[in-house]
Amino acid sequence: MQRTLSTETPKLVGQEVKLQGWVHNHRRLGKMVFIDLRDRSGLIQVLFMDALAEPANQIRPEYVVEITGTVVERKGKGANPNLPTGSVEIHASSLTVLSTAMTPPFEINNEEKAANAGEELRLEYRYLDLRRPTMRQRLVLRSNINASLRNFLRGQDFVEVETPILTKGTPEGAREYIVPSRNFPGKFYVLPQSPQQFKQLLMVGGVERYFQIARCFRDEDQRGDRQPEFTQLDIEMSFVDEEDLLDLAEKMITNLVKEVVPDKHISQSPFPRLTYADAMAKYKSDKPDLRQDKNDPNELAFCFITDFPLFEMSESEKRLVPVHHLFTSPKDTQVFTSGATKPEDCIAKQYDLALNGFEVAGGSIRIHESVVQQKVFDILGIPKDEAELRFGHMLKAFSFGVPPHGGIAVGLDRLVALLAGVENIREVIAMPKTGDGRDPLMGAPSTLPKQQLDDAHIQVKKE
Ligand code: ASP
Repeated sequence: MQRTLSTETPKLVGQEVKLQGWVHNHRRLGKMVFIDLRDRSGLIQVLFMDALAEPANQIRPEYVVEITGTVVERKGKGANPNLPTGSVEIHASSLTVLSTAMTPPFEINNEEKAANAGEELRLEYRYLDLRRPTMRQRLVLRSNINASLRNFLRGQDFVEVETPILTKGTPEGAREYIVPSRNFPGKFYVLPQSPQQFKQLLMVGGVERYFQIARCFRDEDQRGDRQPEFTQLDIEMSFVDEEDLLDLAEKMITNLVKEVVPDKHISQSPFPRLTYADAMAKYKSDKPDLRQDKNDPNELAFCFITDFPLFEMSESEKRLVPVHHLFTSPKDTQVFTSGATKPEDCIAKQYDLALNGFEVAGGSIRIHESVVQQKVFDILGIPKDEAELRFGHMLKAFSFGVPPHGGIAVGLDRLVALLAGVENIREVIAMPKTGDGRDPLMGAPSTLPKQQLDDAHIQVKKE
């Protein structure tokens, strides 16, 4: 017999079915035993009587079982209006235990208690946490969001390209994770902070429209809500200016809301646009919360922030650093290269998308003229030989004919969290790290056997 999912049963009254899943809960009522069986679709009540009551009484929550039985209508008061399958129940004719289960460390069948079980415990036993319908719904939402974004972009002639994970430094300026190379003693790969350089090289490669659901890595001091690895929807386009990117982002996001979270509503379309200076003057924030009703869980207030400054003073380093990254184009390249404007006053072709007070995307039009790029290096005080060492491959590529290009990257973890209505991005990541960057599930980071370190030419300093 083929397997039936629990939510298919209401249309199968009178029929014999085979169900497989987990025992969600279990209760005895005189000579009858009831369980709620949980599978990927939801829950269904199963009744065991007569000879099956005793074996059914032996099973415990989270056992994996196979049940055959008849779908019977629950009449009148017997029906459970709170359960999508509450109009029926299964009268079991056989019960097979496929796997027994220990008592879980928190109550999977009680959403509230499980959610409050303590994050460390939930992360250590994430595979149990994920059995909760709420967690499953978040994974499904995330999958639907990815699918909508992917379909939209493919429909606009974008090509999905995978870029390297083992690579050389990227320019966003965060500290990188380093990976020793066994075959080249003393040499290292780093993990990408973003596919920034690769996507620009793809534009030199004539791809014209690129996207990727890309994992990015940043070895920063953990600030509660940051993850050492996170996911961006990364986009780059050739022969475009700011307006094209903003237009694409707005259409893509509007389509996403309509397709995936139709109960939510966008408070202002077209998305309002504010310059950085206006946003700071008016809201003291470059990601203002423009919701009309902050108590409405379904309101989505998007806005674009444009015209960021090109450089800012780094307080810690006491020197100018790029606000975005050093491939971002100034607004007026002629004025910029002429030096008529002080570097601090230069405006960039840089834009962010904010949602309900959070930054959900950011990008820029890139420099494609070597004089402009050289001027940026000069202002940042990067000597020729250092620029050559760090970015020589980019400059060389650009010397072979580069289209004007620009892009944007959407912070998927934050976007999914906002659409799921949760504050913490860890709630929408299947297997996240803790706030301080540990993985209690796998036990990472961890020490390594001496042999493995020797192979990688590593000697650990005694602190
Ligand atoms: N790579 C940039 C970032 O991670 C986004 C972009 O400019 O496209 O912020």
